[in-house]
Amino acid sequence: KKSLGNSINKLKSDSLASIDWTGTNYEWSEKVENVLNNIFKIIAFRPKQLSVINSTLSNQHTIVVMPTGAGKSLCYQLPALIKPGLTIVVSPLISLMEDQVRSLNKKNVSAKYISSSSSKDETSAALNVLKDKATDVKLLYVTPERFAKSKRFMSNLQKCHADGRLQRIAIDEVHCCSQWGHDFRPDYKYLGILSNMFPNVPILGLTATATAHVLTDVQKILNIPGCLVIKSTFNRPNLFYKILEKPTSQDECITILEKLLKYRYRDETGIIYTNSIKDTEDITQGLRKRGLKVECYHANLDSEARSKVHLKWHDKHYQAIVATVAFGMGIDKADVRFVIHYTISKSMENYYQESGRAGRDGLRAECVTLYRMQDIFKVSTMVFSSVGSLDHLYGMIKYCLNGTYCRRQLIAEHFDEDWGNTDCNKMCDVCCQPENNLKEINLELHCKTISSIIENAEKQDTKLTAQKLIDAWFLKGPVPLRHKGKEPNFSRNIGEDVIAYLITNNFIIEDFHFTAYSTISYLKRGVNMDVVSDPNFSLKMPIRKYSSFELETPAPTELVGIVNSETVERKHLKKRKSEGLKTSKSKLT
Ligand code: ADP
Ligand code: MG
Ligand code: ZN
Repeated sequence: KKSLGNSINKLKSDSLASIDWTGTNYEWSEKVENVLNNIFKIIAFRPKQLSVINSTLSNQHTIVVMPTGAGKSLCYQLPALIKPGLTIVVSPLISLMEDQVRSLNKKNVSAKYISSSSSKDETSAALNVLKDKATDVKLLYVTPERFAKSKRFMSNLQKCHADGRLQRIAIDEVHCCSQWGHDFRPDYKYLGILSNMFPNVPILGLTATATAHVLTDVQKILNIPGCLVIKSTFNRPNLFYKILEKPTSQDECITILEKLLKYRYRDETGIIYTNSIKDTEDITQGLRKRGLKVECYHANLDSEARSKVHLKWHDKHYQAIVATVAFGMGIDKADVRFVIHYTISKSMENYYQESGRAGRDGLRAECVTLYRMQDIFKVSTMVFSSVGSLDHLYGMIKYCLNGTYCRRQLIAEHFDEDWGNTDCNKMCDVCCQPENNLKEINLELHCKTISSIIENAEKQDTKLTAQKLIDAWFLKGPVPLRHKGKEPNFSRNIGEDVIAYLITNNFIIEDFHFTAYSTISYLKRGVNMDVVSDPNFSLKMPIRKYSSFELETPAPTELVGIVNSETVERKHLKKRKSEGLKTSKSKLT
């Protein structure tokens, strides 16, 4: 029964998706264009914006999936001004609401918000908007907990609906509904009642999270299964992706950051992500000692301190914020020129979101990740207890180990998209390699050696960290742990890649142990190690090789030969414009 329901929902959403929503002959089309040009002062829609606007103005429940910076807000801000009545915008963060209301007011659009930090009078005024038929307010922003915790809000909202004034409910960051998303917020669960409570009011959910699993979950929670899902491509052609070898000592790492900030990103602003509060502090100190203007940002700062850091960075007082992922949602700076990952993200999804904060103005920006094997365990020991988290992390490691495929291609695969081979334009380190003479190493014998080292250590009741395992493999460290064969004929760096490769492919598994102060990851044989004695067993690992990356020369600013594959909607608009021009001319004559 359940699967029948699922397939009906799929049919429903497929048939909705097969409709061309880019038309310009709707009753509202002319007004939409006017408002776009004259109120938002925007010349043309970006991909999919017009489709979303048409579908929600047609009263379809719609979920919009667009990458960060693509312009989701316009998809509800503009429709709000087309018909009489009020649009409710659900937003998870007070700072996001404040920013949007401020910028709408600047455009002479009347908007208000209700938040826990509003005064009593402000809250009352905002609540009255729901009842006041004469109000000029077009958008009312609220946080999700309003729906659960404020009876007055709910009864006013019902009044608004009864008066026929509840035009639309927009839910920003709608992935927060789902526990499968990267940002679950329990209060979003209450939004499930809205579609039943206000059946004729279209819901418009917006997110940058594209995972199919999360999207179906969101539809289920909001009670709008089979709704129209409009997804734009996740390709960000202006972002350059790069992996840098991370040195072992923190001091050397800081030197790399120093060079990048002083030369490559001179006079530009950006973000440096780490995975611990201590790292943000250490790196900030280190970079300051070397004369750089940076500041740290993490969850232990109170909200006032956080806004202050954010604002000063926004105004270019700081060149970089050294932050944990607490610095995320609500960053609205368009000219972030670099996002450096000092430590790898915990998944590709997270990496895409974090790196995606660069280059929202469409100009060239760089996303650089410092990677070395040891950082796998820095992250795995933090995340291992939640379901699926190790697989997510290993997806990220595969991206770091990759030296063969275009990085865009890997990201596209992650989002079940195909961006085509020509779309990169040499905007990733792999595509910049001078020629592609792929070198591989055969791992069959190495696997046997590594397996025997692990078994041998187990017999001696010794637990092996990755470092100890590699020591033994390279005939270093305690003699009883070493093997009888020869040491590998490649560098230790490649050895580290081999171990990481074996971990991500289930030949080796991590085994976590707690001490009083930390969690340690020891390595054990994984299920796939059982096949290494099979005579047909074969395993090859491509060796990474990188184009040079000049730390000490300024990053290029030019974007060469980028073509936008989704220009359809712009074309529509242009056509309409020229038609409009003709009619006005003919009227004149
Ligand atoms: P998102 O919510 O998808 O991350 P925003 O709605 O915050 O993105 O928009 C990012 C930026 O893009 C904003 O500065 C917005 O004004 C701008 N923008 C949106 N649509 C367009 C457009 N069609 N043309 C030019 N700029 C746009
Ligand atoms: Mg947004
Ligand atoms: Zn590429």
